[in-house]
Amino acid sequence: YKLKTIEEGLTKIEFPEYEKVSSDAPVFYNPHMELNRDISILALQTFQKEQNREIDICDLFGGSGIRGVRYKNEIDGVGHVSINDISELANEFEQHNVNLNNLEDISIHNHDASMFLRQNRGKFDVIDIDPFGTPSPFLDSAGYCARRESLLCVTATDTSALCGTYKEPCIRKYNSKPYKSEYCHETGIRILAGFCALTLSKYAKCIEVLLSHSTEHYMRLYLKVKKGSKRSDESLKNIGYISHCKECLYRECNKGLATSIPDTCPECGEKLIQAGPLWLGEIQNKDFISKMIKESENKKLNSQNQLLKLLNACLIESESPATFYDVHSICRSLKISAPKLDLIFDEIRNNGFECEKTHFSPIGIKTNAPINKIKNILKKL
Ligand code: SAM
Repeated sequence: YKLKTIEEGLTKIEFPEYEKVSSDAPVFYNPHMELNRDISILALQTFQKEQNREIDICDLFGGSGIRGVRYKNEIDGVGHVSINDISELANEFEQHNVNLNNLEDISIHNHDASMFLRQNRGKFDVIDIDPFGTPSPFLDSAGYCARRESLLCVTATDTSALCGTYKEPCIRKYNSKPYKSEYCHETGIRILAGFCALTLSKYAKCIEVLLSHSTEHYMRLYLKVKKGSKRSDESLKNIGYISHCKECLYRECNKGLATSIPDTCPECGEKLIQAGPLWLGEIQNKDFISKMIKESENKKLNSQNQLLKLLNACLIESESPATFYDVHSICRSLKISAPKLDLIFDEIRNNGFECEKTHFSPIGIKTNAPINKIKNILKKL
């Protein structure tokens, strides 16, 4: 193989050169995921500091080994790292990259991801799931394997399913009905988190979402896993449905799986469309994200500017209501041109409502103001 060398953070990686980013590559490497990996470094370091002891990590879908190798090389307080991949060629390069960075206490494994988790129950403080496409088939084994107070990191690249471009793949993979709205990326993240919560609950484990983001072609979740059947029952109260009105853009959230869901819009009488089951609990943890931002001062990360922008946006979003309004959609429905975003924010706040931006969309507004109030404000501006 002709080798390609890249550097991320403090780590150097080599793998067979390939003309495009593709799952057909002999060993997979995607440069567009550097931001995702940089954020992972901060999340894992923050988690390690909170635990205040050595953490053992499982990089379940190693590819070139870049995650496992970077975690060992760039995070303080890491004990053993296990890198797994079903491809033997990937394993060769994982070992090569471990050696290239002079690292010890990393083992390389050649198993199907679910088998590997099943055989190593309770061994990891961090499980990183970074597969091709959907993580769905591996979450049961992650639920079985994950120990109490551990960190579960999940990437999904099947965003068209989660966002509801087609309904069937989402129902099939996540047992949830998506809805393609202007806030479908948020719905998608909530469907993914909801599916994780429901899957883990079979093993009497529950989740707390520490950070979630939807970036380019993927979604990423950082979940704190906790144990206990009572706790899990309590946590599942965060599962529910979003009902949306296509006509007037009204929406409402209803927590609880067995809850009754309204079928007509209280504002205009149109039929409401439901998405779910999905996670209606917090999707950003203020304290954890603040610590990550602080941690970024200690690390050398190539995507520093971009990740700070993203983390700050996620921080602002914490404690704000589910879903957001899209300024252009509302203005289109009112047949007016869109006023300046800053003016809209000021005016909503002047009317006594909370109002924040969202990382999901540059023209999104997260507010507790009802849709009719927002429409009145927009018409007056
Ligand atoms: N984590 C890597 C990174 O950050 O560059 C990328 C991993 S890549 C998206 C997915 C990897 O999973 C591939 O290397 C592939 O060989 C491996 N794989 C696919 N199916 C698997 C399975 N069932 N069990 C374990 N590994 C699998």
